[in-house]
Amino acid sequence: INTIGVLTSGGDAPGMNAVIRAVVRTALARGKKVMGIRKGYSGLLSGDIFEMDSRSVSDAIQRGGTILQTARCKEFMTEEGQKRGAEMCQVFGIDGLVVIGGDGSFKGAERLAHQGINTIGIPGTIDLDIACTDYTIGFDTAVNTAMEAIDKIRDTSTSHERCSIVEVMGRHAGYIALWCGIVNGAEEVFLPEVENITQDDLIRRILENKKKGKKHNLIIMAEGVGGTNELAEKIQRITGIETRPTILGHLQRGGSPSALDRYHASMMGAAAVDLLCEGKSNRVVAFKNGEYMDFDINEALAMEKSIPPRAREVERLLESR
Ligand code: ATP
Repeated sequence: INTIGVLTSGGDAPGMNAVIRAVVRTALARGKKVMGIRKGYSGLLSGDIFEMDSRSVSDAIQRGGTILQTARCKEFMTEEGQKRGAEMCQVFGIDGLVVIGGDGSFKGAERLAHQGINTIGIPGTIDLDIACTDYTIGFDTAVNTAMEAIDKIRDTSTSHERCSIVEVMGRHAGYIALWCGIVNGAEEVFLPEVENITQDDLIRRILENKKKGKKHNLIIMAEGVGGTNELAEKIQRITGIETRPTILGHLQRGGSPSALDRYHASMMGAAAVDLLCEGKSNRVVAFKNGEYMDFDINEALAMEKSIPPRAREVERLLESR
């Protein structure tokens, strides 16, 4: 490997810049040339590619978002697009590529490896929904952002004796919701992966809580379950308790990455470059059972992940009754 390319793809996540920095600095330290590719696979196809040096990633480790920008690219889903991607790599001399993103981006990396470009994926998503790894870059920052926002909503809701329903991100996965349920001390958490209580059960519980003198009900809704506004409207209509929906949305994707995100980002970025230097390709870097490792992309994509039953149990045990 002589020249390593790096791109961020799919949804952005805090800590992506720390990964880019680690990739650039490790590659330079190993005597490789580094090319930054802007806007994911779409920038690869349009040749939006530039040489990076150590200074290109100065002052980036603490910044949210991605300095390389990110995109979703339909054309890259086609074989023609993938062939053109590989050709563009050749034009710029890129013989190894680090792809920072989620499962979709890894499928793209697998396709490029098929076209002869050595690729390594790094899990970057706030959703924690990548099966081969216990950690994905951005999750800790997103959970902390959501936790702080929910603490603030709780303050005002308690003062007014309101019920609040807060929808957190995660797409089809409920990890952010589960963690917020535990760390914010929610009365109820709705997750897409497991069976939840019915809306009627929830309304009965809210009424019981009111009888017990509880000043506030906090309900966390995972994006993948949804219906937050409708549920708030229904609770208020039936119980007469003022109920406010809050959809936290994209604020959870921004902000300066936490120490944990910067640390994993640095370790995984360096690991990806070292794998390329060892001649490996079509691998995903993972953090599993306390260790950094790597998996074949196809094996990684075939793995399944589920909400840890004990975490759901503890969340339930700690709900006030
Ligand atoms: P996140 O879940 O954080 O948004 P992601 O990587 O899963 O990240 P996607 O939108 O699924 O996000 O994928 C990003 C890009 O990867 C797509 O726009 C496309 O260019 C490429 N990609 C996705 N799936 C494939 C595929 N099957 N083959 C080739 N390329 C793909």
